[in-house]
Amino acid sequence: MKIAVIGGGIAGLTAAYRLHPHHEVTLFEKSDRVGGNAFGYRTRDGVEVDIAVAAFGMAGYPNFYRLLDELGVETAMCPNSYMSFHDLDTNSGIYMPTTLAGFLAQGLSALRPSKVWKLARLPVGLARAQHLREQGLVDGKTLRELLAMVPEFTGDTRTILLCALCLLSSMSIAELLDAPARFFLEKLAHHHDVISPKAFYSVRAIKKGTQAYVQALAERIEGCVRLGTGIRSVLRAAGGVTLVLETGEKLHFDRVVFACPADAALRLLDAPTEDERRLLGAWRYKDGRVVLHRDPAPFPPRALVQAYTFLFRKGPDGEVAETSVNGALWYEPQAPDTCDYFSSQYPNFDLNPALIEFETVLRTPVFDFTSVATTKRLPELNGVQGTYFCGSYFGFGLHEDAVTSALAVAKALDAEKRA
Ligand SMILES: Cc1cc2nc3c(=O)[nH]c(=O)nc-3n(C[C@H](O)[C@H](O)[C@H](O)COP(=O)(O)OP(=O)(O)OC[C@H]3O[C@@H](n4cnc5c(N)ncnc54)[C@H](O)[C@@H]3O)c2cc1C
Repeated sequence: MKIAVIGGGIAGLTAAYRLHPHHEVTLFEKSDRVGGNAFGYRTRDGVEVDIAVAAFGMAGYPNFYRLLDELGVETAMCPNSYMSFHDLDTNSGIYMPTTLAGFLAQGLSALRPSKVWKLARLPVGLARAQHLREQGLVDGKTLRELLAMVPEFTGDTRTILLCALCLLSSMSIAELLDAPARFFLEKLAHHHDVISPKAFYSVRAIKKGTQAYVQALAERIEGCVRLGTGIRSVLRAAGGVTLVLETGEKLHFDRVVFACPADAALRLLDAPTEDERRLLGAWRYKDGRVVLHRDPAPFPPRALVQAYTFLFRKGPDGEVAETSVNGALWYEPQAPDTCDYFSSQYPNFDLNPALIEFETVLRTPVFDFTSVATTKRLPELNGVQGTYFCGSYFGFGLHEDAVTSALAVAKALDAEKRA
């Protein structure tokens, strides 16, 4: 079959890679690069860094790790791949150093029993929250309501939990608090090695940088990718699907796979069905600013900066109210130790403009009560009027979800061909 894939993120690349041997595939990507939110950048001094997607827990990503194996792409442990939480107003925080230099930078306070106990409250609180979920007691409740039900989820424990969820969802703390508690508990149950001491050995990165697998996928479908090609609309009829490009050019295909965000897919469809309108229309996306810079000023001393360092502020109630998520890029396996770049998502502090090298905006789905309610029904859209959908919004918003939904689309199209 002649198949059009719209969107060159991990979902579109995986779908095209799987369909390519059996079909005539064309992948349309509106920007000038493939990878979507898996965004690689070559710095002025020639270091390849990943400014966004970089880490994958082994427990929650079985399909993604299988795909890497198939492509022959190696992964590596992220040395010191842990988190630090730094209060921008008090210049103090919760640090989990894994090196002697880090312990020395913190002083003896790190060993105080009260500090150690604070960290131990997180797994206790999470176990209690998961127990509540299993009993159905968090159904329909917001994360804010769940936090009030679990005595451990206050103070530093609440800071750690909410900052980590910002990292895992690209949502702000305000958005998280109003979001469905059940969704985030299910996500943490699935990715149980991420907010846990296991993360130290279980969360891995791509040995030569995230771009290594993006390139490996792109090479497998060479000649099938049209970069810088936006789609204006998609018309469906009994004989197949017509793509109208931004240039006005019209191209005919037997099938189309939407691997772009749900809201973009709905906008492109000329006459969406009632289900498409309802299920895709439930998704809101947010444009998140991501800045690549070398400004250490807002951060704690380098020995206390971990792979992910959260710079947070508290609200009037003394609880964490906002945070930025900052990747210290020297922890990426391919980057040299001399690297001093940060990638800051949603910076909530002033940056020295002279130290900013690059910035971009990345789009991510917002997981709220309306959107999450569609997740189980989204696969029902596939196969209707020659149209298929995939992307990270089919699951928890991560790479595994994008890959799993793309593999399902490829399998369904192959089954359609055989029938
Ligand atoms: C800062 C940041 C860090 C992240 N870190 C991680 C991480 O470490 N691990 C992890 O698993 N996940 C991470 N994520 C989540 C990440 O978004 C998903 O894992 C995944 O990359 C999403 O893939 P996708 O293919 O579904 O969508 P996208 O990557 O959003 O790809 C969609 C593509 O469709 C294209 N497109 C849109 N409209 C059109 C159109 N009209 N015509 C043609 N093309 C179009 C876009 O340009 C884009 O390339 C991170 C996200 C962000 C923002």
